[in-house]
Amino acid sequence: MMAGSYDMVVEPGTTKACSSCKWGNADFVNPLRGNCVGAKNHMGGIWKRLIKDYYNTTCGKYEEGDVNFRDHV
Ligand code: SF4
Repeated sequence: MMAGSYDMVVEPGTTKACSSCKWGNADFVNPLRGNCVGAKNHMGGIWKRLIKDYYNTTCGKYEEGDVNFRDHV
C-alpha cells in the first residue's frame, strides 16, 4: 500500500494537530481521541477516521479552522 498525504502521522507537539483542524472532532467519551471527517472514500462518501491521539496527530490534509466555530452558530 502506498503512503498518501492523508495518512495520519503522530508528531508530538505539532502545531498542526487534529485538535485545531477543521476536519477534526473530539471523541465524546474520550476527548484525547477524536475522529476526522476530512477524507472522502472513492465513492465520494465521508470516510470517518479514528484519531488515536487527537492532540499529537496531523496529516497532509490539515486545514486550520476555528475549532470553536460550532459554539457561535
Ligand atoms: S484532516 Fe488530517 S490533521 Fe485534520 S483532523 Fe483529519 S487527520 Fe487530523
